[in-house]
Amino acid sequence: MAFLVVLGGGESGVGTAILGKQKGYEVFVSDKGKIKEKYKNVLEHFGIDWEESKHTEDKLLKADLVMKSPGISDTVPLVKTMVEKGIPVISEIEFASRYTDAKIIGITGSNGKTTTTMLTYHILKNGGLNVGMAGNIGDSFAKMVAEKSFDYYVLEISSFQLDGIQDFRPHISVLTNITPDHLDRYEYKFENYIASKFLITKNQDSADYFIYDQDDEVIGSWLSEHPIKSKLLPFSVKRTLKEGASLDKNEIKITTQEYTIKMMTDSLALEGQHNLKNTMAAAMVAKLVGIRKETIRECISNFQGAPHRLEKVLKIHHVQYINDSKATNVNATYYALESVKTPVVWIVGGVDKGNEYKELMPLVREKVKAIICLGVDNEKIKETFGNVVDLLVETFAMEEAVKVAYKIAERGDTVLLSPACASFDLFQNYEDRGNQFKNCVKNL
Ligand code: ADP
Repeated sequence: MAFLVVLGGGESGVGTAILGKQKGYEVFVSDKGKIKEKYKNVLEHFGIDWEESKHTEDKLLKADLVMKSPGISDTVPLVKTMVEKGIPVISEIEFASRYTDAKIIGITGSNGKTTTTMLTYHILKNGGLNVGMAGNIGDSFAKMVAEKSFDYYVLEISSFQLDGIQDFRPHISVLTNITPDHLDRYEYKFENYIASKFLITKNQDSADYFIYDQDDEVIGSWLSEHPIKSKLLPFSVKRTLKEGASLDKNEIKITTQEYTIKMMTDSLALEGQHNLKNTMAAAMVAKLVGIRKETIRECISNFQGAPHRLEKVLKIHHVQYINDSKATNVNATYYALESVKTPVVWIVGGVDKGNEYKELMPLVREKVKAIICLGVDNEKIKETFGNVVDLLVETFAMEEAVKVAYKIAERGDTVLLSPACASFDLFQNYEDRGNQFKNCVKNL
C-alpha cells in the first residue's frame, strides 16, 4: 500500500487525507501546530492517523507521496529533506485533480480571485451545469472530489497551490492580475511570484483557454517573453479588443470569432472598475462552457457579492458605510477608493506587508477627507498622507475607529474600511476585522 503523508491538518490537508484513504493509500496527517477539533473528528471518523505539535521525521520520510498544505513554505527543513530524498511533494489541487475527469476552471491572481470565482460559479450553476466550487474558497477540492461527482469545478487557486503542481491542467484558466504580494515566500523576488502565478498555464495546450487582464503590464510583459500554448482571451477596460472582452461606452462587449455579447455596465450588480474586469472574466468563462447570453446577463445583475469585499453595510444619516476588510494589499484598496463615492472617511492600516502607498496618492488627494489609522503599522501612513488630508486620527480598536468616523462623516460621505494591510495585529483574520466593523456600524 502506498504511503501518503499529508503535511498540515487544515481544510486542504484533511480533504486530501479523505480522498487519499478512499483511493487506497495508507494516510498519515502531521501538523507542527494544533489541529482543530472539527478536523480531528473528521480524521477519526475516517480512521486516518494523525499527529499534532510535532513532525515525526523518521515516519514522514518513508512517504511515497507528500501533500504539503499551502501554508507551509518550501524552505521548511523537513520539506527540503523530503525533496532531497526524491519524495514527490505536491499540492492539494495536484492530488485531487488526478481523481476527477471534470472540466476545471482555475482562477488565480493577486486580487479578485474570490469575487471572480463566486460570480463564475453563480452563472454556471444558474445555467444548469453540474458544478462545484472549491479551492481557497470554502471547501477543499480534494474532499469534494472524494464525496461528489461534478462535471465542472470552479477553483480559486493561490500561488502556493500552484507551486505544488505537476500535471494539473485547467481547461480554462483565469489570471485576474499580478501585483506584488506574499513576496516573503518567493525570496523577495517579484519574478518568482509571477512565474508561480503563470504555472496555471503550464500544462494547458491549444484546446484550453487562458483568460487574463490585458491592461496588466506585468502579465503583458511576461507573456511577450514566455509564450504559452493555450488560446488567449484577454479582457480590457482601456482598449477595444477584436477578440476578448472590452468596454464600448457603457457596454461590456465580448467578441470571439463565433459570437458577440453585450452587457450594459449599469446593470451590473458589482460596482467599481475592478469588478468590471472580474465580470468580464466570469462572463467569458460562462460563454466558453456554453451558458446562454440571457443567463449570463441575468446572473451578473443579480449576483450578491462576497462579504468583506466592498460590502455595503448600512446607510446612517445619508452616510454610506462600506466594509472592504479583504483589501489586505495596496492594489485592492486602490480599486476600493476608485470605486466609492466621494468624500471618503477612510479607515486604513494593520500589519504592513512592505506597502508602497504612493500609488494611492492621486485618489487620496481627490477623494479622502479624513484618515483613521487602525493598526500597529501607522507610521508610513502618517508620513505619506499626513499633510494631504485635513484630518488624520490614530486608533487601536475598531469601536473607536467607527465612532470617530461617525463623528467626522457628513451627509453624502462614505466611510470606507479598506485597510491595505493584513489584520493579524488587532484581529484574528480579515473576516473578524470586517465583522467587528459591521457590528460597530450597526451599534451606532
Ligand atoms: P482575492 O480572493 O484574490 O483576495 P477578492 O475577490 O477576495 O480577491 O478581493 C480582494 C480585495 O481586492 C477586495 O478588497 C476587492 O474589492 C479587491 N478586488 C477585487 N477584484 C479586484 C481586481 N480585479 N483588481 C484589484 N482589486 C480587486
